[in-house]
Amino acid sequence: MVMATASLLEYIAPITYHNTSNIDVFKKNNHHGVSHAHNAQQLIGDALRQRVENIDHEFCEPGDEDTFFVADLGEVYRQQLRWKKNLPRVKPFYAVKCNPDPKVLRLLAELGNGFDCASKTEIEQVLDMGVDPSRIIYAQPCKTNSYVRYVASKGVRQMTFDNADELRKIAKLYPDAELFLRILTDDSSSLCRLSLKFGASLDATDSLLGLARELNLNVVGVSFHVGSGASDPLAFFKAVRDAYAVFNQAAAHGYSLRTLDVGGGFCSDATFEGMASVLREALDEFFPPHHGVSIIAEPGRYFVSSVFTIACNIIARRTVEDPRQGSNDEVSYMVYVNDGLYGNFSSIMFDHQNPVAKVLTSNSRFLYGTNSASAAANAAGGTEYSIWGPTCDGIDRITESIRFQQTLDVGDWLYFEDMGAYTSCSATRFNGFTDRHDVIYVCSEPGARALLNLH
Ligand SMILES: *Cc1c(COP(=O)(O)O)cnc(C)c1O
Repeated sequence: MVMATASLLEYIAPITYHNTSNIDVFKKNNHHGVSHAHNAQQLIGDALRQRVENIDHEFCEPGDEDTFFVADLGEVYRQQLRWKKNLPRVKPFYAVKCNPDPKVLRLLAELGNGFDCASKTEIEQVLDMGVDPSRIIYAQPCKTNSYVRYVASKGVRQMTFDNADELRKIAKLYPDAELFLRILTDDSSSLCRLSLKFGASLDATDSLLGLARELNLNVVGVSFHVGSGASDPLAFFKAVRDAYAVFNQAAAHGYSLRTLDVGGGFCSDATFEGMASVLREALDEFFPPHHGVSIIAEPGRYFVSSVFTIACNIIARRTVEDPRQGSNDEVSYMVYVNDGLYGNFSSIMFDHQNPVAKVLTSNSRFLYGTNSASAAANAAGGTEYSIWGPTCDGIDRITESIRFQQTLDVGDWLYFEDMGAYTSCSATRFNGFTDRHDVIYVCSEPGARALLNLH
């Protein structure tokens, strides 16, 4: 029997970890030298299968068929190694807002990372894990007064600013804070632009540093963010060059800055290596190691995008007979699933994503990871579907058109990969649908299992 409440998180996790079949699969594969990627896919597939095979939509309780995630914590671990290999000088401070999943945060903490937080709740969540306040940066240039008093009481000293009013606020509430001047960057090629809202232009930095000096504040570094989901590596080069100029301005005001914060924006796809190599070279040019400046970053999506797979149940189907088709009797279908733009697919609205549906089950067959799960390659092949969320709003559409060789019907499941970034964290409860969904954890990396004390 599947339980339907969100508090399941803690309930499900240990069961999944100790699930003998998963462990057996894991050991067997490892023993025979099967690649980690294969092993990861098998673990995720097993978790998906076990869950959906236990749900019979003809008999289940309300909510048993709810959307759920499978998270492979091994993927976080691999992303960490990949980061270290490509950006060995840069220490990540994970941007909590991207996905505050407690087990992801725990693993990132065990791996030695810091955290970028923007609210009291995020800071509290990180401190409650036992993370030292020095490993947190309050990277919100426009802060709430009461939160500034809160961080002062907890000893979280590092924070960003980008304007004179904020400097006066900090002088009043937390004169000992360690300040990073956030500068404006060219974010025109990023998915989510941030520079309209934050960042001091290079015309303003000198006078801000002068004011900080006047107020006797402790400026320790420069930060920037090239925009979330950045695609132009040159943006990193220009930002590092500008940051270097601000380091020199600061020196003229008597500040010996010690840290450069290169922000977030890194994607987890194959663009990462190119982006990282431009950043690495820019750092070596403007901030060579012998200058002694520490480098930190605030990656969010990089660490979590590929960690989470979501499974959604088809709750309704509408047959569409297009009169324009005439004698051609092709039918298409609108399928309605139990998650949508107001839920975990909020990333379509807020993060400009295009999640791609795959078929998890059709006609009682389990298709995860097979060729039959993917959309028909041929534009005219298979049957056409549009995929809609469960709310009453017309904008709640996940996919306008996709073709599958499989016939989809009520009770079948779809899955979507790469659903870890900016998904559940910005879901709403609109129309009475839940914004809390179960996460089944698997872990395809022995190193991560050891850090999390899983065995
Ligand atoms: C959102 C945000 C991040 C994380 O951005 P990603 O594109 O997910 O890496 C980092 N720093 C700040 C200040 C942010 O607002």
